[in-house]
Amino acid sequence: MVYRNGVDRILRKPNTSNSEQCRICGSDMYVERDKNVYTSYACAMAKKSSCMDAFYCPHSDKEWHDKAGKLIDEIDDTTSPSIKEIIQKDLENVLKDRS
Ligand SMILES: [Zn+2]
Repeated sequence: MVYRNGVDRILRKPNTSNSEQCRICGSDMYVERDKNVYTSYACAMAKKSSCMDAFYCPHSDKEWHDKAGKLIDEIDDTTSPSIKEIIQKDLENVLKDRS
């Protein structure tokens, strides 16, 4: 499973945040405190981990969640406001039909 950093995996300095909501589906995230994690791809390559509180969305392994995440990426990627609007509608449908 691939988490999207800052979206369905949010890292905070230890004890700076009590709760976070998933940027994709708005669910309350569960937290693993004082976890040694790589904060970026570059840190992973250098095997340099940091102690952080890691918040995860409980729905990250669901197919609809992955789809919604991709749609959000596409909304961020496009510069066309009309396309943004179309993708936004698709996103709302995916979140509405989630199972
Ligand atoms: Zn979520």
